[in-house]
Amino acid sequence: MRIEEDLKLDFKDVLIRPKRSTLGSRKEVDIRRNFTFKWSGRTYDGVPIVSANMDGVGTFDMARAFHADGNGLSVALTKHYSEEQLIEFLNNDPAAANVWYSIGVAERDQEKLDAVMKGAPGKIEKICIDVANGYSEVFTNFVRKAREDYPDLTIMAGNVVTGEMTEELILSGADIVKVGIGPGSVCTTRKMTGVGYPQLSAIIECADAAHGLSGLVCGDGGCTVPGDLAKAFGAGADFIMLGGMLAGHDQSELEVVEVDGKKYVQFYGMSSDTAMNKHSGGVAEYRASEGKTVKVPYRGDVQGETLQNILGGVRSACTYVGARQLKELSKRTTFIRVSQQLNTVFGNS
Ligand code: 5GP
Repeated sequence: MRIEEDLKLDFKDVLIRPKRSTLGSRKEVDIRRNFTFKWSGRTYDGVPIVSANMDGVGTFDMARAFHADGNGLSVALTKHYSEEQLIEFLNNDPAAANVWYSIGVAERDQEKLDAVMKGAPGKIEKICIDVANGYSEVFTNFVRKAREDYPDLTIMAGNVVTGEMTEELILSGADIVKVGIGPGSVCTTRKMTGVGYPQLSAIIECADAAHGLSGLVCGDGGCTVPGDLAKAFGAGADFIMLGGMLAGHDQSELEVVEVDGKKYVQFYGMSSDTAMNKHSGGVAEYRASEGKTVKVPYRGDVQGETLQNILGGVRSACTYVGARQLKELSKRTTFIRVSQQLNTVFGNS
């Protein structure tokens, strides 16, 4: 047994220090990013925010809303669309240009991907290889094989939380490494297993490792307010994946339920009992659920206040530190540690 004494921080443990700036207004800030991916050679031009590959947010309707919004946000599609649904969407919907096809590492995932690629030739450009624990050898081997088989696809792979595993995945063929174990709003991994890593430090350490190899990272999980996105970008995240912050909208493709006159939409972790009952015929005997189910207040169209607040918050953070482009935000970020005592007494808003 060993104890690491180094300081590890979460979003709530820091604030961003304001800096002198020549920016007149947040309108002058450009929060799109332009990337050329290390392995695929493809490019990305847009606000680097990705809707998580979960039921309720990783939907075709969310992709359509982002497409209509025009800021270039993207959607990682939930793994639970059928082959037919995916082929139909990819072949016929202009919103398909900005989605990530999500895949696990089971043999049937690979077969499904091959079938969808056959049914919609050339339509999949980006894939998200997603497992709860990115530390297994099987996972790295899968990423390596995917890179060999699909040299021109952009590959996002995860999740991990440490620099050495980030390097391993980039060197195995990932263009982007997805970072986060345990911070998700409907995740119970930390409670069920005791495993996790404070998300801000995970992003800082993984971004440093990835950038040294011309790779990128996507901070996944734990953002609850727009300021958390600013902190994640400030910490070095190139992309940010959001679940809970995008839940509860018309785009959820889930039923809106009314309780005591208030409207809600269900939101659940992809390894919760709810998800496993819906998609896998129940929780397998050898595992416990590591996700929970919550009722999120219904919030209408994602294109209204929600997107405006998220994008406006990030833009405003850039003006506070004098970053004319989102790209400059991490260079201009100095984090101030907030003492735990102040945090609990006053919050850090
Ligand atoms: P959020 O933005 O809601 O805080 O986090 C979203 C992320 O939580 C997802 O992208 C995914 O990585 C993670 N997640 C989704 N479902 C589950 C689950 O059932 N269990 C765990 N441990 N993590 C989940």
